[in-house]
Amino acid sequence: MTDSVDCPVHGSSAITFVCAHVAASLKDKKPRGFWYSSFKVEDEPCAWCTECEDMLRAAGDEWNDEIQKHAQIKLLCFGCFVRAAQLNGIEVPR
Ligand SMILES: [Zn+2]
Ligand SMILES: [Zn+2]
Repeated sequence: MTDSVDCPVHGSSAITFVCAHVAASLKDKKPRGFWYSSFKVEDEPCAWCTECEDMLRAAGDEWNDEIQKHAQIKLLCFGCFVRAAQLNGIEVPR
């Protein structure tokens, strides 16, 4: 059983984690990049924007304090996660 979140749009959905910038893209519909770990709900997918990806790369793929502070990871429902991916032109596997 995976954890779930009650989304006002999608109802009870699996949880995912995204950086604040991906979450902002959902609100203002401006793509900021979408780098994701997985689209499998059982993996508790997470995603972050290109800016966070650049910082992550510079830090050798290490989620250090500085990046975590910048990313401000937020909880998102899986339906919203998919919407954010599509907003960035990512094809979501089914
Ligand atoms: Zn970000
Ligand atoms: Zn949702």
